[in-house]
Amino acid sequence: MIPAPFEYVAPTSVEEALQALSEHGDDAKIMAGGQSLLPVLRMRLNAPEWVIDLSRIDSMRGIRDDGDAIVIGAMTTHHDVLNDALVREHALLITKAATEVADAQIRHRGTFGGALAHADPAGDLGAPALALGAEFVIVGPGGTRTVAADDFFVDLFETAIGEDELLTEVRIPKHTGWGAHYEKFVRVAHQWPICAVAATAKVDGGVVQQVRVGLTNMGNTPLRARAVEDALTGQQATADAVRAAAEHAAEGANPPSDLNGDADYRRHLVTVLTRRALLAAVGG
Ligand SMILES: Cc1cc2nc3c(=O)[nH]c(=O)nc-3n(C[C@H](O)[C@H](O)[C@H](O)COP(=O)(O)OP(=O)(O)OC[C@H]3O[C@@H](n4cnc5c(N)ncnc54)[C@H](O)[C@@H]3O)c2cc1C
Repeated sequence: MIPAPFEYVAPTSVEEALQALSEHGDDAKIMAGGQSLLPVLRMRLNAPEWVIDLSRIDSMRGIRDDGDAIVIGAMTTHHDVLNDALVREHALLITKAATEVADAQIRHRGTFGGALAHADPAGDLGAPALALGAEFVIVGPGGTRTVAADDFFVDLFETAIGEDELLTEVRIPKHTGWGAHYEKFVRVAHQWPICAVAATAKVDGGVVQQVRVGLTNMGNTPLRARAVEDALTGQQATADAVRAAAEHAAEGANPPSDLNGDADYRRHLVTVLTRRALLAAVGG
């Protein structure tokens, strides 16, 4: 289908974009890579009067080292994220997950910030961002504020970003030397996961010193599998310890039932995927 007619503006700075948002308010929609927005417009699930295209704002693109964190501009494409040496060195979990997003064409257009702002519970980047304790830098008429990952994902397709605000960048605390793996289960290649697990761990002397586990599509928002983390922290990095910890993966989760599988299937699947992800993560 063809989208309903809309006016189009492509600001070249964050300030201009905020100005356009304040002028057009509820009638406007932000566009980043357009990979989720355009299908929505084409299906006429949304018909904004204005589309504000962020693709000409150079300051929102790129990856930089900022001491104890790396900072990823919201408009950085998935392709650029997954090929970036800083991300690979300090946030390997993000590299692993970005590799699994859709296909090469979509990864060249879709953006890191767009995917997180979209907050699809089946999106591949929310769980890794949550597991790594990312901070979301949000700019609006009142200035800049930083929101912790635990508070960013509010509900299905809903985040802490206000109607008149923009996500400009995401700060990822460095996890240098941590092993990481993203285990994704799909029915069809290059699609959203039925369920997926993001795991990253710091192992020293054969002992799991720290571990973080995030779950994709096991509820309305990405989830931390804290019971798994608690069970594995301080344990020997053995297959038996990982298997025992992974049994806790579905605790506190509220997975959906759909044509791909019901909630009980997902509860079982997530324990299997958690075991696989952790084995790879603690293995280096
Ligand atoms: C066929 C197909 C398969 C896909 N498969 C996967 C997959 O396997 N895994 C996966 O994770 N994703 C998948 N995606 C989605 C893809 O990752 C998109 O890139 C992503 O969801 C949205 O990013 P975008 O930059 O295109 O955002 P857009 O589509 O432009 O925007 C998405 C939403 O976020 C808002 N928004 C965007 N940027 C900002 C910002 N900076 N501040 C505030 N609001 C903002 C927009 O207003 C819009 O509501 C797939 C998409 C398609 C079409």
